[in-house]
This record gives sequence, structure tokens and C-alpha cells, in this order.
Amino acid sequence: MDYLWTPWRYRYIADASKDDRCIFCDALAMGDDSKSLIVHRGRKNFIILNRFPYTTGHVMIVPFAHQGELTDSDADTLAEMMQLAQRVAAALAANYKPEGYNLGMNLGRCAGAGVTGHLHLHVLPRWSGDTSFMSTIGETRLEPEALEITYDKLHRALAR
Ligand SMILES: [Zn+2]
Repeated sequence: MDYLWTPWRYRYIADASKDDRCIFCDALAMGDDSKSLIVHRGRKNFIILNRFPYTTGHVMIVPFAHQGELTDSDADTLAEMMQLAQRVAAALAANYKPEGYNLGMNLGRCAGAGVTGHLHLHVLPRWSGDTSFMSTIGETRLEPEALEITYDKLHRALAR
């Protein structure tokens, strides 16, 4: 599963972070959640679609606070992060009927983090056979559904 969150998908993020910008803080500050792909805002965290999804419905749960270390986050933020993971999993289940999920954090550049300065938890719906299909098409991204459509579905499901 090395290629789950491989660096090529984050090339643009790495470029953006060169000048000390943070894509998560930028998304929060944009003031247009549908444009920045923020599908839900909680009390301490928000849920944002991955612009380069590994599978349809690939989201990230991100604390509002710009903190890079797991040890920086308070218990309340971490607890809500998992509660939002639960809610987004339910929203994904209702819309996409995944057969499984990956939840994960890449902490540090060597661990594959594209954004090292701002903690985020990936939630990835999975279907049997999706990896073997991905590996055959290599770097050609599979985007079976337009991000706007995914946005509408998850935004609606999470508003309930
Ligand atoms: Zn940030």
C-alpha cells in the first residue's frame, strides 16, 4: 500500500508550500467553501475533499489550528476528528457503498506527508480491486466522478 498517498499527487502542494503557504489555511480563508472544497465545518476541525483523490470520496479531516505535530493537538480536537471520521464514513456509506476504508496520517516528509505544517487525517473509501486497477494505469489519475458532484453529495449528507 505504499502508493496510497504517494508524493506525485501532492506535487502542487509541495510547490505551494515553498513560499510558506498552507493549502488548508488558504482554503479556510478563501470564504467560499464550495470553491475550496470544504464539505463540512465542525467546532475544531473541517472536512475537505482531496483535489487529487485516490478514490472517489477521498477526504481529509483537518483541525482549524495550523499545527503540524500530533502532540500539538488538544484532546477535544482529536476527539472531534474521530467523530467527524465516523460521520464522513456514514456519509460515504450512504452515497458510495464502499467495501472498506483507509484512515491515516502521514506525519513528516519522510512518511509521505505532502503538507507537513498542518495536521490532517485522510479518509479513503475502498472497493476490492481498486488498487490493482490503479497500479495498471500508473500515474493516470482515476477520477470516476467530478469533484463538484462528490462535493454536493457529501455536503448534503453531512448537513443532516
Ligand atoms: Zn495551515
